[in-house]
Amino acid sequence: MSNLPIEAEFQQAVSEITQTLEPFLAKNPEYRKALEVVQIPERIIQFRVTWERDDGSLAVNRGFRVQFNSALGPYKGGLRLHPTVNLSILKFLGFEQIFKNALTGLMMGGGKGGSDFDPKGKSDHEIRRFCYAFMQELSRHIGADLDVPAGDIGTGGREIGFMFGAYKKYRNEFSGILTGKGGNWGGSFIRPEATGFGLVYYVTEMLRDLDNTDWKGKKVLISGAGNVAQYAAIKVLELGGKVLSLSDSTGSLIATGDDGFTKEDITTIADVKLARKSLTSFDAGSRFKWYAGERPWKLVEKADVALPSASQNELNGEEAEALIKAGVRYVAEGSNMGCTLDAIEIFEKSRKSIKSRNNTEGVCFYAPGKAANAGGVAVSGLEMAQNSQRLKWTPEEVDAKLKDIMVTCYKTCWETGKEYAEGGALPSLVAGANIAGFIKVANAMKD
Ligand code: GLU
Repeated sequence: MSNLPIEAEFQQAVSEITQTLEPFLAKNPEYRKALEVVQIPERIIQFRVTWERDDGSLAVNRGFRVQFNSALGPYKGGLRLHPTVNLSILKFLGFEQIFKNALTGLMMGGGKGGSDFDPKGKSDHEIRRFCYAFMQELSRHIGADLDVPAGDIGTGGREIGFMFGAYKKYRNEFSGILTGKGGNWGGSFIRPEATGFGLVYYVTEMLRDLDNTDWKGKKVLISGAGNVAQYAAIKVLELGGKVLSLSDSTGSLIATGDDGFTKEDITTIADVKLARKSLTSFDAGSRFKWYAGERPWKLVEKADVALPSASQNELNGEEAEALIKAGVRYVAEGSNMGCTLDAIEIFEKSRKSIKSRNNTEGVCFYAPGKAANAGGVAVSGLEMAQNSQRLKWTPEEVDAKLKDIMVTCYKTCWETGKEYAEGGALPSLVAGANIAGFIKVANAMKD
């Protein structure tokens, strides 16, 4: 019996890792202690954030930074600003971040932070005052070689700008203490695009390995309408696929024809989101149908790829079954822990049922967020490297490095999955990602 409070999301992330590590731990019991150790954050900082609303009244929020693991380098991970934020969610995100960062091959530890502040409905001035107040406390605990936060849900380029400005004022220091900075003041090219582009680069490898195919003509379901979903959609279009859906917390927008969203649609939606409005403000016309309060997974009869790119637990078991029925053969998470444990089990069962690579009918090949969405933090790592060198690489250089990292990450998951995970002629990318990330961190901790 534990005397600790129940932390549902964190416990879900720990049990997912623990289950998939079992075949590895059975063969290598000397690693069991590392699994026990890695579950406990090195440090958690919690603080109060008081700020002033436009009408002069006082507002108060909770601020957090979970400095989870620094075996591989400075703590690295985003800041989430969302009313649902609590310690369980940030511990789950920080825990996942440790292994994700390890899978990039760059030297970064894992962390996560944020606040239960809700940016929706706030003026720019209120957001700036919140960011300054938040950074007033956080600035004591971060640093370019200590802990380097970045964006996440609710924290985009504007918020990073406010926080960076605040840090410089409080600490009188221009250093790479945040990533996702603007291009004019230390940011890297391709950072805004990185998570979405990286996700598509990762799935490109899955398409090739499973069906010797590419994106041309593929029908793609995407959830979310934020930074990850937007750039995943743009890259899918660039590579010849068709984007059939986008969504937000108010509902899903489904393309009525086969052509799906155009690049112009996505640019317009990006503007709507920048103005912190819901998708209902997008003038959809007859090319789209709006489903209030629904997620996209059960709304389309036929699709090939699903990219959950909104938030955690946004695709459940029932929806996983519906996707398989609709012919979806690839699911890769742009979000962190986008699929519930039930959904993952269903995808993994379909993978295990494959007896030979010559007959893969009915399989739905699944990639977890800690591998598939690692492109964002990977380019954050490249931003740190550029900052340390006082250099700026071209967009082509950064994009080529990102592609390289995602291909290597995929190969690592595939090879490690093949070595350790049981069942089927197709390796498990979940087991591969968890085991490969864990071994790297465990070895560094032990050394
Ligand atoms: N929030 C992103 C993630 O979940 C990026 C973190 C970063 O760039 O540090 O990976």
